Amino acid sequence: MVDGTNAATPARWEQLATQVLDGRPLTFDEGLSVLACADLELPALLAATYRVRHRVWGNAVQLYFLKNAKSGLCGEDCGYCSQSKVSSAPIEKYRMNDEATLLASARAAAETGARTFCIVTAGRGPTDRELDHVVQVVEKIKRTLPLNICCCLGLLEPAQAERLAAAGVDRVNHNLNTSRRFYPEICTTHTFDDRLATLQAVRSAGMELCSGGIVGMGEADADVVDLALALRELKVESIPVNFLHAIDGTPLQGVDRLNPRYCLKVLCLFRLANPNSEIRIAGGRELHLGWLQPQGLYAANSLFVSDYLTTKGQSPEDDYRMIKDLGFVVAAPGPETAAAIRAQRAAAESAAATGPAADASCSVPCGPAGA
Ligand code: SF4
Repeated sequence: MVDGTNAATPARWEQLATQVLDGRPLTFDEGLSVLACADLELPALLAATYRVRHRVWGNAVQLYFLKNAKSGLCGEDCGYCSQSKVSSAPIEKYRMNDEATLLASARAAAETGARTFCIVTAGRGPTDRELDHVVQVVEKIKRTLPLNICCCLGLLEPAQAERLAAAGVDRVNHNLNTSRRFYPEICTTHTFDDRLATLQAVRSAGMELCSGGIVGMGEADADVVDLALALRELKVESIPVNFLHAIDGTPLQGVDRLNPRYCLKVLCLFRLANPNSEIRIAGGRELHLGWLQPQGLYAANSLFVSDYLTTKGQSPEDDYRMIKDLGFVVAAPGPETAAAIRAQRAAAESAAATGPAADASCSVPCGPAGA
């Protein structure tokens, strides 16, 4: 793993973190330099990034619980997705879960300690009937459980976004996935601009944005940096960073371009580019970060607990153990927590706008990564 690059320059990462904490946005070239960080400098990069994570998020870890409410049967051709019409992956396929199933999953999410329940459906976008169903279920969940709700229903028209907002949906997930340049390489049935239009509709309806991407699909470093900066432009509140789990039967089957150190650098990039956003280590966490998985939380502040859409995650017990061993804490569930976090983030933004960081003393107790 040692790559021979001069490792005696960790101070530059401290300087970069200080600049970010002082409110100066990461530039494109600085983003590229983060991804090109020598492996020997990775502990220093993580330590510097942790200072940025800590100022806004402390040592809290937000947990999300995914419910794949409708699986497979999608007519789009996203090359990474096992639920696409062009995938022959042997996944479970089913139409929309009924109300009782969704409510039971929401209860399970609350019992797991998740702060947010994510309702996900495969497909280009919801039908009128599907939207009616989701609206009805969300209204019931919000009346009975202390959960924030995030919906991921595909492309949305402005009127559909407004209905979700009126039902009490807090956030909508719609990933940009990659850069505008690389987008046609992974999907031809809709465009990057279609996805942007959905995010704009969600924002106009007054909901928060959850939007991130997938790394490891064959894109260049510049595409990853473009994505991180595009999300900053949109002021996305929550950014899931997925690492491609190339499922057999999908067009990207066999693509394997990631290593754990690169994944950590990607997480540092997203944190430094988006200091005030929630950064979530999403799909591919266990597979690609491997033994370095805990170190990802020095940059990210959020995880999915339990399983992903069509792949298994590690057990919630292992997640809790990992968080505890790091000395971190699980953020308490509930909308009131989300409001407190938003206030904390606004305070951090205002502090960055008015002067240097007050908290410049945190460091990461981590040894050489993967040496
Ligand atoms: S639109 Fe969603 S469900 Fe359909 S193929 Fe693309 S990512 Fe998969």
